[in-house]
Amino acid sequence: MESGAFEVLRNPDAVYQSCIDEDGSPILLTDVVVIGNGPSGLALSAFLAGWKPFYNKKSAHPSRVLHQKLLGHAETSLVDQELSCLEEYCAAEDGGRSAHPLSVLYDSLVRPDADLGHEHASSLRWEHKTEQRVPHVVIGAGPPGGSWNDYDDDIMPLSLSTWLDLPGFGISQWLGGQILCARLPCLVIRKYFKAYPKHMGIRKNLLSYATVTNVQKFIDTDGRHMWDVRGNHVNGPFHFRCKKVVLATGLKSPRMLNLPGEAQNERVLHDLQPLKQAIFNDIACTVDVMSGVCSMKPVLVVGDGITAADSVLHCLANNIPVIHLFRRSQKEIKSTLLGRLSNSIYPEYQSVVRLMVGREVDALYQPMPQSSVVAIDDAVAEVKSPSGETTVEFRYMVVCIGRRPDLHFLPSVSADLTAVHPLTYESPSAPGLYCVGPLAGDNFVRFLVGGCLGAARHIIASCASDDQI
Ligand SMILES: Cc1cc2nc3c(=O)[nH]c(=O)nc-3n(C[C@H](O)[C@H](O)[C@H](O)COP(=O)(O)OP(=O)(O)OC[C@H]3O[C@@H](n4cnc5c(N)ncnc54)[C@H](O)[C@@H]3O)c2cc1C
Repeated sequence: MESGAFEVLRNPDAVYQSCIDEDGSPILLTDVVVIGNGPSGLALSAFLAGWKPFYNKKSAHPSRVLHQKLLGHAETSLVDQELSCLEEYCAAEDGGRSAHPLSVLYDSLVRPDADLGHEHASSLRWEHKTEQRVPHVVIGAGPPGGSWNDYDDDIMPLSLSTWLDLPGFGISQWLGGQILCARLPCLVIRKYFKAYPKHMGIRKNLLSYATVTNVQKFIDTDGRHMWDVRGNHVNGPFHFRCKKVVLATGLKSPRMLNLPGEAQNERVLHDLQPLKQAIFNDIACTVDVMSGVCSMKPVLVVGDGITAADSVLHCLANNIPVIHLFRRSQKEIKSTLLGRLSNSIYPEYQSVVRLMVGREVDALYQPMPQSSVVAIDDAVAEVKSPSGETTVEFRYMVVCIGRRPDLHFLPSVSADLTAVHPLTYESPSAPGLYCVGPLAGDNFVRFLVGGCLGAARHIIASCASDDQI
């Protein structure tokens, strides 16, 4: 590798630099490679591209403590100022929504008192400091927007639309005025995520339709920790060499019950989409004209989260009988994410909760609380419940018990890899490797942007100190 190649990248418009490696193979040099082009990858890219949030004195935060702490540094961006003093404040503010103080802080500054139903203006203003750009590439398997490209068009997002704002260019700005509906369909949100890179000037940083297949760490001849990132783009293979790697890969794969035969059983599905497809293709799912219901065996829905509720709603909307099995007791359901959703904003989910806790009945719906599937044999599930072991016959079983990351491109994944530092988002077990978004515990867009701010702060500071060496 040419010495000083990284300095060439200080040209702010250079996203990467073509070079030849030790073996004579072509290689692309950049400072940072971000893997994943969902909301996390896009938010981080904006920060690395020089978009800086400043405390807006003219739009004071309703918390006097926070206002006083930030007022004295209003001329320095949140990317560039010392913020660890806020850790205590944020920990006190957080109601268990996110494990990370910066996630809570950023959310609170952009949407002051949002959880109390207030619609205060954002306490942040934005400046684009183009001279402070960090050369970086954001690699994603599909188009910008990440997993939002896969969400069902019929489903309304859980988040209010303003909670899905990415840094510096919110949904209302994109729509050109105040949003009149609290929740916008996934289709609209997806279009916003696609429009975001152009507006923020980060399109040149995105390498879409490219999959990372291998990430390796090594120490270069100057003793610096470096990373090689290899993969395939629609136009052929690529090989990046960089100082930092950020995993913004989200939670891709549905979790399984891990029971023998589960993966091979065509009637056992994971997630709503395959269930919808199976019901659509299955002649047995057609409604009997006389009775108005399906005479087929029930769909067994496993789980008590949002996707499980969506599956129940889909079956009931198609007059398909449902057995809904979940581990928690009916009393415990009230304190889950699903149970806490407000009836006025989420009437569809509250209707499922009422069925789950027995406050309402439906001839097509049977709840099985405090139960778990212990074995599956063809179309029969062996179920353990408080009344003992029983069997449940099903047409389909849909397992909706969350998602897990797919990090197969890393040579070894230890459990503490994603247990990142709460302020820098760097992995303590792999310096130079960062995790953001759900991978780091920031599951919702409103929180993951603050996490990306934390990672960007650390990356920008350490890239700048490298340059001074
Ligand atoms: C059904 C459902 C509904 C949801 N609703 C909401 C909601 O209403 N509000 C909310 O805030 N959150 C919601 N979420 C949570 C969601 O995880 C976040 O909104 C957000 O998408 C996380 O952003 P991310 O960029 O970290 O990950 P993702 O959006 O998952 O994007 C990561 C991207 O990285 C790509 N990738 C992974 N591995 C590689 C690789 N090796 N090479 C190249 N690319 C790779 C993936 O293809 C993916 O496109 C929902 C999640 C689900 C499953």
